[in-house]
Amino acid sequence: MERSNRLSSYPLLRFPFLLFLLLSSSAALTAATSENANKGASFSAAEAEAAVSRFQEYLRINTSQPDPDYATAVRFLRAQADALSLESDVFEFAPGKPLLLLRWPGRIPSLHALLLNSHTDVVPAEPLKWVYPPFSAALDPSTGNIYARGSQDMKCVGLQYLEALRRLRAADFAPDRTIYLSFVPDEEIGGNDGAGRFAASEKFQKMKVGVVLDEGLASPGEEYRVFYGERSPWWLVIRARGAPGHGAKLYDGSAMENLMKSVEAVRRFRAAQFDLVKAGVKAEGEVVSVNLVYLKAGTPSPTGFVMNLQPSEAEVGLDIRVPPNADTEALERRIAEEWAPSSRNMTFEFKHKVSVHDLFGKPAITAADNSNPWWMLLEEAMKKANGKLSKPEIFPASTDSRFFRERGIPAFGFSPMANTPILLHGHNEFLNKDEYLKGIEIYESIIKAFASYKGDTKDEESRAEL
Ligand SMILES: [Zn+2]
Repeated sequence: MERSNRLSSYPLLRFPFLLFLLLSSSAALTAATSENANKGASFSAAEAEAAVSRFQEYLRINTSQPDPDYATAVRFLRAQADALSLESDVFEFAPGKPLLLLRWPGRIPSLHALLLNSHTDVVPAEPLKWVYPPFSAALDPSTGNIYARGSQDMKCVGLQYLEALRRLRAADFAPDRTIYLSFVPDEEIGGNDGAGRFAASEKFQKMKVGVVLDEGLASPGEEYRVFYGERSPWWLVIRARGAPGHGAKLYDGSAMENLMKSVEAVRRFRAAQFDLVKAGVKAEGEVVSVNLVYLKAGTPSPTGFVMNLQPSEAEVGLDIRVPPNADTEALERRIAEEWAPSSRNMTFEFKHKVSVHDLFGKPAITAADNSNPWWMLLEEAMKKANGKLSKPEIFPASTDSRFFRERGIPAFGFSPMANTPILLHGHNEFLNKDEYLKGIEIYESIIKAFASYKGDTKDEESRAEL
């Protein structure tokens, strides 16, 4: 509108521009129609509106760390579950941190169950840096984007599971396998008091879970991303010691010199790993990443630091992320021999170190190939829902999936958001309402396929025997 008004003041230019506008707007119209044909096509206008408004309602509950309003979130989700006649239970594996577990019993109780996991907490937001307040769940009418903290990570997924069940219920679907939905607290602060304690509980063991779906990442392209493993955090502190000395004196073996030699070695290693990513040889999740997170040295003075003294101690903190199939022994050797050699008066300590192996000593990954029936079902279900999966990836950071994978349970990280910039933990996090609706259809297809699968469970049983 604005554009054609402006153009009318340039009569000579009007015709070609009008033609251009006509062409481009008809192209846009065609694009919009074909997109609509794919997105949320099976929703009536009223259903779509109701689903979107339930999503907004969930987004408006401020469950941001460090003081998440879990009680309101659980109340809201439980009401949703009641409306769908799902069984519900609340567990507090840690006081004040409720975990809501929903259950739709399957027709064949001997089959292993399907678990749909999502976390209810979100990271904090800085309201002043947002176009819309982060807990308003404002829907931009011109784009259909819904702005809210948690719109991508991962309240979308939690409610999409529920909406998919709503549609399956309406279609009189009866699952063969029991379907569980877990809404877990605390993922954003490590998950130990949420999914961690849950997966270790007796309750969880009794659920006989055969496969888990959990969060993934948005994809700016047409294809949906899926994750079959994740890198393990190794948080390393390296300390150097050396003789203190006058700031004017050149001598060997000072703590700072010792530390800087290590930092140089770390940087060379980092660059080599990064080069593999830049050259397209490996994906981000397939290399060992190392980043310097702090440097600590110097002798404090009332005005800052003593400037004519070389300190006797210095340390550096590193955030290392290790892929599940990395040669961890070689990495440990590198740390001991190259990054923190005792010959240079250096020591090291892990502040946090997650094993890349599961409890059975195997790399904690879920097979994403024909050897895994769940993978084949996932691929097939995606096709049925007109969605395309991209090449399976290793998640670059950590999610709750690790608590399930470490117990040998297959888990896929998957958040159905295509054509969406990755904004998790960023300002102006949003999800388009059509993408949201399309994601519900995708889950509908996946849940249907998984819950109807009666294939043999020998692999699961033999795993239990191991
Ligand atoms: Zn998340």
